[in-house]
Amino acid sequence: MEDNVKIKHCKKCLMPNTRLGSTVFDDDGVCQACLNYEKRESINWKERKKELENLCDKYRREDGYYDCIVPVSGGKDSTFLVYMMKVKMGMNPLLVTIGCPFTQTKAGAKNLMNLKDTFGCDHIQFDLSIDLFRKVTRIAFEKFGEPLRFLESAIFTMPTKIAIKLGIPLMVYGESDYEYGSAEQKDCSAMRHILKLFKNEDINFWLQEGISKKELNAITLPPEEDLKRIEPIFMGYFVPWSSTRNFEIAKRYGFIDLAHEWKREGYIEDFEQIDYIGYIVHHWLKYPKFGFQRISDIASRYVREGIIDLPTAKKSIIEGDHKLDQRAMEDFVHCLGYTVKEFWDIVERFWNRDLFEKVDDAWRKKFNYEE
Ligand SMILES: [Zn+2]
Repeated sequence: MEDNVKIKHCKKCLMPNTRLGSTVFDDDGVCQACLNYEKRESINWKERKKELENLCDKYRREDGYYDCIVPVSGGKDSTFLVYMMKVKMGMNPLLVTIGCPFTQTKAGAKNLMNLKDTFGCDHIQFDLSIDLFRKVTRIAFEKFGEPLRFLESAIFTMPTKIAIKLGIPLMVYGESDYEYGSAEQKDCSAMRHILKLFKNEDINFWLQEGISKKELNAITLPPEEDLKRIEPIFMGYFVPWSSTRNFEIAKRYGFIDLAHEWKREGYIEDFEQIDYIGYIVHHWLKYPKFGFQRISDIASRYVREGIIDLPTAKKSIIEGDHKLDQRAMEDFVHCLGYTVKEFWDIVERFWNRDLFEKVDDAWRKKFNYEE
């Protein structure tokens, strides 16, 4: 390994310090996500559950109107959230989905339907105009290598606006970045996260890029006095967050995985991010930029949860973390109007020269996974 390679991997879980939010490693080379995970033991989860019950009691309504909004994609975490709010807490949630123009998987379509069917919940789906989606996704891909920047803002903004308009204060999101290495989660509020997404510069950025004011509704934050009327929370504060536990519970309530439909390259499971085909290109782009993508994400969680050991994680990461699924790439370029050649020419800009070098016209990583 070259001395100047600017990447370090956590001794416990292999998460690299290039992951946003987990750059802080302790003196023993352990990442913040692992340190946060260890703190779970000292948390009084019974007390947290009581806090959740109290919060639900505060917003529970006797008149039959919706008492909370659950933004859902249809994924296993969404299914778990609806289970928690409707089955465990006895609430009457309204589900809100922000759609995506990439091709939906069969499992994704079924799972979204399942939420309305199995749990008997009403549901609103909001879709961006395809023309707008194409414009903003192309811009964010070409400028930042982060194609879904606009859509991911809309995923937080639109449900917030709907909550305010419909007068449903409680909003329930899944886990916060704390699970993946951001510092301290001192309460359950998701408001800080939402506010962070809406920096004025972002709106100015889109205006400068030729997106009109009329097209920015989905990511424009409501006025501050309106925001005071809602209470967005992270469920991960109240229950120890586990994607495998969520998957187990979701399956009992009709959630299906991708195993019988599509074996994805660069993945070690069939139940995360399975709703839309082209969507996962967004995640893959972390690889040229930061030297890791989904296998590292998932393997590090599994190691923390004791599902796999470190050598197994390492083997999977080395074998597959660099792989971009071809079908996902095809869906991505088709939807956005690129040729495959154009796609790779754009990706070319984002290879992090500190982490990768070109050998015989192909990018090779300069780092390995030893300390
Ligand atoms: Zn770690």
